[in-house]
Amino acid sequence: MAQARMATGTSSFGSSTVLGPAARSLLPATAALAALVVTGLLPAFPAFLGWILASCVSYALALRRRRRIDLASAYLDALIDGRDPGPPPEHNLLDEGGLYHALPRLRRTLAERRRLADMGLVADLLQTVIDGIDDPLIVIDARRRIVRANGYARELFPAAAVDAPLINSLRDPSLIAAVDASLAGGTSSQLFLSLKATPPRAFAARVVPLQAGPLGHTAVLSLRERTEAVQIERMRSDFVANASHEIRTPLTAIRGFIETLQGPARDDKRARERFLAIMAQEAERMGRLVDDLLSLSRIELAEHQVPRERVDIGMLIGRVVDSLIPAADRRDVRLALNPPDVWPPVVGDADQLFQVFQNLVENAIIHGGSGKTVTVDGRIEQASPHDAGPLSGTRALAVTVSDQGEGIPEAIIPRVTERFFRADNPRSRKEGGTGLGLAIVKHVLRRHRGHLAIRSTLGEGSQFTAYLPLA
Ligand code: ADP
Repeated sequence: MAQARMATGTSSFGSSTVLGPAARSLLPATAALAALVVTGLLPAFPAFLGWILASCVSYALALRRRRRIDLASAYLDALIDGRDPGPPPEHNLLDEGGLYHALPRLRRTLAERRRLADMGLVADLLQTVIDGIDDPLIVIDARRRIVRANGYARELFPAAAVDAPLINSLRDPSLIAAVDASLAGGTSSQLFLSLKATPPRAFAARVVPLQAGPLGHTAVLSLRERTEAVQIERMRSDFVANASHEIRTPLTAIRGFIETLQGPARDDKRARERFLAIMAQEAERMGRLVDDLLSLSRIELAEHQVPRERVDIGMLIGRVVDSLIPAADRRDVRLALNPPDVWPPVVGDADQLFQVFQNLVENAIIHGGSGKTVTVDGRIEQASPHDAGPLSGTRALAVTVSDQGEGIPEAIIPRVTERFFRADNPRSRKEGGTGLGLAIVKHVLRRHRGHLAIRSTLGEGSQFTAYLPLA
């Protein structure tokens, strides 16, 4: 079959390819016969018959050689084209010059090379595919060595090189036990893995056995990052714990006074007046807390919707300052407003922006100290500084509320916008704020694609700057 296919592919036994060599091989015999005739040693007719005979033999030999060459080249053509030509042509046709043995050897070598190249291509394809997976993935062999690791895994575990022991990258005993169980018993398992990085990272790990395959028993370890989910869960439970604690404190105080008024102080008119005043204060504090919690949750719910209202920011800040004059007077604080030449147009949510500046100015009045000045400066930054968050380097409206109070220690500046955070100083404790004011400011500005920057010098005062994008 193979030979039939080859025969159709060979060149024809055309006269030019056979006659040429036949004529060349006939030349010596022709010359010898001619010499014999010329010298009279051989009569012309027998010489002519001899020449005819020699021509036929030469032609037959040239034809046979041509046929071998064509068969061999057809065989080589098939190998070069990547087709399998099957066993070599008949022995008696190719027995010259070791071709009969060389051709099948060449065929075997080429087949082996092709198989290795295909395996290499498959391996490259496999690596490309696993590198494209967004989760860390490691394949482990029966000796607990790494056979393959994708890009994410190598980034996460620099020791995850091919043939390196898994234990160099991951030491968690329960994970190693899961890998062993998978390699030995073919069981799949899932477990939670936390990595001692800074900051710590959490992963859901899955170990799956792969029993069939050229590498024998292997296990595939895949990890799915859960750090953010764990953080959110922790924040949620911290939040519930903090909110419950903040509500329980005034509630406990109110309950205590109710018991006292129902019991020992039942007929004490002066005590009743005093306790009722404190109860009203505590109830007010609870009310503020609930209001702030509701505001925060509303702002967070709408955080992905950028507000579209046009806001007259100059008038809004003027209203905030006016509304806080009585509070400033009570604390003997002077309020000063330095507007820009022209307030730029701003797009936003007027109520939420009012809350932002109210919280900032109120804090400055509380923490600024009596006899001091609180200043509100509005300006357009042609290129906001690098700490202006998403607005760094862009044109933005910057409104800075400065006070001349005791300032905030540098280490806690990043924490003052956390929910329920209060600096551990007597003023913060005495004021009994909700600890949610700056968290609300941060989230409102974030919703407006703006930013809050805080600068403070101990003993000199603090500056809170709200950056807002221009409309
Ligand atoms: P609170 O309701 O306690 O005022 P905030 O979120 O508004 O809550 O503020 C958090 C904490 O940040 C405050 O308890 C206070 O310790 C600190 N803080 C806020 N503003 C200032 C300021 N202008 N100067 C000094 N400390 C401040």
